[in-house]
Amino acid sequence: SPGLYIVATPIGNLSDLSPRAAAILARADAIAVEDSRVTARLLHHIGVKRPMLPYHDHNADRVRPGLVARMGSEAIALVSDAGTPLVSDPGFKLVRDARAAGHMVTTIPGPCAAIAALTLAGLPTDRFFFLGFLPAKEKARADTIAEIASVRATLILYESGPRLAATLSALTAGLGDRDAAVAREISKTFEETITAPLSTLAARYADAPPKGEIVIVVAPPGEAPPPEADAVDAALRDALARLP
Ligand code: SAM
Repeated sequence: SPGLYIVATPIGNLSDLSPRAAAILARADAIAVEDSRVTARLLHHIGVKRPMLPYHDHNADRVRPGLVARMGSEAIALVSDAGTPLVSDPGFKLVRDARAAGHMVTTIPGPCAAIAALTLAGLPTDRFFFLGFLPAKEKARADTIAEIASVRATLILYESGPRLAATLSALTAGLGDRDAAVAREISKTFEETITAPLSTLAARYADAPPKGEIVIVVAPPGEAPPPEADAVDAALRDALARLP
């Protein structure tokens, strides 16, 4: 039926495309794509040929009204190059406008690098805070880190290989030397997750920027250590001694 179908695609291993995602792509009237070469490869993998409409940061404002209009009579799928659309990827305004126009909006959930990394890190998962990509400029990056330093949640960040070491150093400076994980190339041949304190990770990657795609996961701020029994006793004795 007509409307907008948000379709998650693999973050590496093409076998992670769900059967339902493949079925929706196969019968969509058109697929809004970030990069048609990337999506063409995916469609080829499942033996599907559908019209692709480029929808990315540079043309989104111009093509969005036309796309939304088509949803009244056509099934329009939205994919990004990898993973879940709208997560550090285009799409939120398309969903907003599709809803405002009264169109059906549904999702075919699937891979997301942030969630995949969270499951690999061995850090608390009950509360997490997704930061996407930090600003590239040093001052803006430090300001963002300072802003979230007291958030009591595991932090998840996207980063690129060349910037990894600098970001890990900035995180160490702004958050203290918390436990962390660097998850790389998830679901691909060279998948690797390294867990260590932030400063150790920063040192490790300083001279050898890693290849591939990367997620950083950082532990929440430590609990204030519980007062030791001796200290409590001493404070009590002190308080009693001062009673009139
Ligand atoms: N929408 C995508 C998702 O659901 O994960 C994220 C898109 S964002 C533009 C791309 C970033 O996601 C990469 O720079 C990297 O930080 C992370 N990423 C994507 N695939 C990954 C993978 N296989 N392993 C580790 N990180 C990945």
